[in-house]
Amino acid sequence: MKIAVEGCMHGELDTVYQTIQHLEKLHDIKIDLLLCCGDFQAIRNERDMQSLNVLPKYKEMKSFWKYYSGQEVAPIPTIFIGGNHEASNYLWELYYGGWAAPNIFFLGCAGVVKFGNIRIGGLSGIYNAGDYHRGHYERPPYNEKTIRSVYHVREYDVHKLMQVAEPIDIFLSHDWPLGITDCGNWQQLVRFKPGLEKDIQAGTLGNRAAAELLEKLKPSYWFSAHLHCKFSALVDHGKDGRKTKFLALDKCLPQRRFLQILEIESECGPFELHYDEEWLAITRKFNSIFPLTNKNANFRDTTPDIRDCRELVRSKLEARGAKPFEFARTVPAYDPNQSQSKGSYQRGECPRNPQTESFLQLLELPY
Ligand code: 5GP
Ligand code: MN
Repeated sequence: MKIAVEGCMHGELDTVYQTIQHLEKLHDIKIDLLLCCGDFQAIRNERDMQSLNVLPKYKEMKSFWKYYSGQEVAPIPTIFIGGNHEASNYLWELYYGGWAAPNIFFLGCAGVVKFGNIRIGGLSGIYNAGDYHRGHYERPPYNEKTIRSVYHVREYDVHKLMQVAEPIDIFLSHDWPLGITDCGNWQQLVRFKPGLEKDIQAGTLGNRAAAELLEKLKPSYWFSAHLHCKFSALVDHGKDGRKTKFLALDKCLPQRRFLQILEIESECGPFELHYDEEWLAITRKFNSIFPLTNKNANFRDTTPDIRDCRELVRSKLEARGAKPFEFARTVPAYDPNQSQSKGSYQRGECPRNPQTESFLQLLELPY
């Protein structure tokens, strides 16, 4: 399987897909999958712009809306996680993951899926110690504070990922796992990015939760973005001989190293995206014992037994198949020929997404 990995998307879908198609022609290859490590900016229309935390000069529609409207179709299956520049309202609708546009799958706040026989996990957002134990309390319309905290990683989601016991091939996080620079040529990195040196020396660069996940999950590959540079590292997990190849990539700009193609051993294609049985069992278990809440919590010592949920999930997936529920357009897409009424969220208005609804129904959970 040939996988293209991309750093921060920043809404530049047209450019990234064109680059991939150019590489396919140039090398006479077919790329099976695109992975994006956050700052995706899935802006569907002008209203979504209100939930995007960027400087005013970056408030642009970019190109996601074309793929949302159906005017363009993603030429290769695309899987992404969230970063710190997102249509946070839209990603919240798809908290459990789902198609953000046809052929473009959001992994969820945390998630694991299968693409062919390759198992891909991811954690959205960036680490912030102060918000780590908070619940998901932010709802649109976001204010000056919540627009900046909504994308902070929560222990709840990390703890769900910590329950994954079966091997993960690829894991995605937006910010880098804390301490990852120790496993690569950081001297060369700081020559290129002097701004990082202080944090590297202090041992504070990166995501503490991601480092815990890296140590626990030991995936074969780990990809990140956020720091706008290319950096590779090899993590040796010690006694059991497992290693993780880490790669961070830049954002999508001319002359920048934002894309990497790699070949990984897999079954033969064509490949399909499927729900992951173990992950669905974990999700069901967590929802039934700790429903998604806006309250603070600390889950460190809880390791729930998911076996009963596993049975239920297996029979459900056997009955309906493991394909994710279909993409559903829930708001009008941006139309450049029409001046749109911007409209705002009413306080308390909580958009429901049919994919999330069906997903929870499948797991016999309340919305
Ligand atoms: P973003 O594109 O998410 O707004 O910001 C990424 C930029 O912030 C990058 O240029 C990156 O170098 C910088 N940055 C993000 N986190 C850190 C950090 O923890 N330490 C340092 N020194 N720079 C950071
Ligand atoms: Mn970022």
